[in-house]
Amino acid sequence: MAHDVVISGAGSAGLSTAIFCARAGLDVLVLEKNSKTGVFPRGETMRPDPIITELLGPDFMDQISFNRTALRRYYSPGCREFFSLEREHASYIFHWKDLTEGLKSVAVQEGVTVMMNHEVIAPVSRNGNVVGVITGDGKIRNSTTIVAADGHNSVLGRKSGVNYRNLNSPIAKRICSGIESDFSGMEFFIITPGTLAEFKAHPPMIAFIFPRGDGDAEAGVMALSGAIPPGKRGDVPFGAELLKILKNLWETYPVFSDKLKNADVSFEGASIIPMAGMHHAASSIPGLILTGDTIGLVEASGGCGIVATMKNAKFLSRFLVDNGVKEWNRRLMKQYNREFQHSDIYRHISGKYRKLLPVMRLLLNRRWRFVSFDHLWRIIGQFNRRV
Ligand SMILES: Cc1cc2nc3c(=O)[nH]c(=O)nc-3n(C[C@H](O)[C@H](O)[C@H](O)COP(=O)(O)OP(=O)(O)OC[C@H]3O[C@@H](n4cnc5c(N)ncnc54)[C@H](O)[C@@H]3O)c2cc1C
Repeated sequence: MAHDVVISGAGSAGLSTAIFCARAGLDVLVLEKNSKTGVFPRGETMRPDPIITELLGPDFMDQISFNRTALRRYYSPGCREFFSLEREHASYIFHWKDLTEGLKSVAVQEGVTVMMNHEVIAPVSRNGNVVGVITGDGKIRNSTTIVAADGHNSVLGRKSGVNYRNLNSPIAKRICSGIESDFSGMEFFIITPGTLAEFKAHPPMIAFIFPRGDGDAEAGVMALSGAIPPGKRGDVPFGAELLKILKNLWETYPVFSDKLKNADVSFEGASIIPMAGMHHAASSIPGLILTGDTIGLVEASGGCGIVATMKNAKFLSRFLVDNGVKEWNRRLMKQYNREFQHSDIYRHISGKYRKLLPVMRLLLNRRWRFVSFDHLWRIIGQFNRRV
C-alpha cells in the first residue's frame, strides 16, 4: 500500500508536518526509530506563536509549561558586566517529552499512523525519484512524498548531499534543582576562545541557565561552531569532551558556578543543535523533502528550532495540497525549492544566518581582552533596562 506522505522521525518537524498533512486530507505514515517520542530532551523553551495554538489548541502550552519568563540577562566574557532585557512576550518552559507526546496524540487523532521502533535505513528510488523508504525490519514503505524529519544527522539528508559538518554545533546540558539565583529570567554567558585555562583550544561558546521555577533549571553550554569557518571545525569539542567543559564551567566559571555549583543534577547529556549554517536546497532528489534539523532550520541567534519546524510543516503541507502532488519530477522539485526559498520561515532563518555568522566570526572567533567586551556591554546596557 502506498501512502501520500511517509515521514521519517517523530520529532517536532515530523509530527507537525504529519498533523498539517493529515488535516489537509492526506494519508500519512510516521516512522520513528525509538520506542517513545522525546527520548533525549532537546528544546525545552519556546516563545509563543500562533502556529503552536493552531497545531495543539489554545490551552496546550499553558497546561504543559511549568514556568514562563520574558526576562533575559546577558553576561560579558568573564562576567564583569551584564545587561538585561524584557521581551514583549514570555517564553514557555516545559518538558520536551510533554511537547512531543502532545504532538503525537494530536497526529493520531487526525488519523496519522505513527509506527515507533521503525528506523529508516535508506531511501528507495525508481527512475531517479525517491518512492519509498526501507525500515530496519527490511520492509519497504511506499509513498508519493517522503519527508526527512530525522534530525541533525539524517540518513536521508546525507543521501541528499547535506554536509552536516557545515550545519551542526555541539551542545551539552544538565537538568538540575536547588539552584541559587537572584534572577528569574533566562541567563546567557558568552565565553570567548582562550577563557578556560584547562581547555586550550576551545571554540567560542554560550553557556545558559533557563529557570524552571522552584529552584529547578536547565543549564548547559553550546559551541558556536558558526563562528568558525567550516574548514576549521574539526577540533570543536563534542560529546564527552563538551560535558567535561560543562563540568568545568559548573565548578569554576564566575557567576555561572555561583548559581549552579550546589545544585542537584538529575540529567546530563550531550547532543547536537544544527545552528552553524543552513542547507538551502530542501529537496535534491524528486520525491524527497528535508525539513527541520535535517537542513539546519534553527535560529542562529539563540538555537530556537521548534517553532521553525512547525511553520515549515504548514508551508510543506500547503505545497503538496495546492499542487495536488501525485508524482514528483525535477520540475516540481525545483518549484518546491523556489517556493521554500521565498517562504517567510526560510527568509527569517537564512536572514539570521546571513547577518549573525559574519558578526560572530568577527567578534567571537579570537582572543580579545575582556576590557573591550566590558566596554561594549556597558554601552549596550545604557540602552537596556537592568531588570
Ligand atoms: C539540547 C538542545 C536544546 C535546545 N533548545 C531549544 C530551545 O530551547 N528552543 C527551541 O526552539 N529549540 C531548541 N533546540 C532545537 C530544537 O530542539 C530542534 O531544532 C528541534 O527539535 C528540531 O526538530 P526535528 O524534528 O527536526 O528534529 P528532532 O527533534 O531531532 O527529531 C528527529 C526525530 O527523528 C528520529 N530519527 C532519527 N533518525 C531516524 C531514522 N533513521 N529513522 C526514524 N527516525 C529517526 C529521532 O529519534 C527523533 O525523534 C534545542 C536542541 C537541543 C539539542
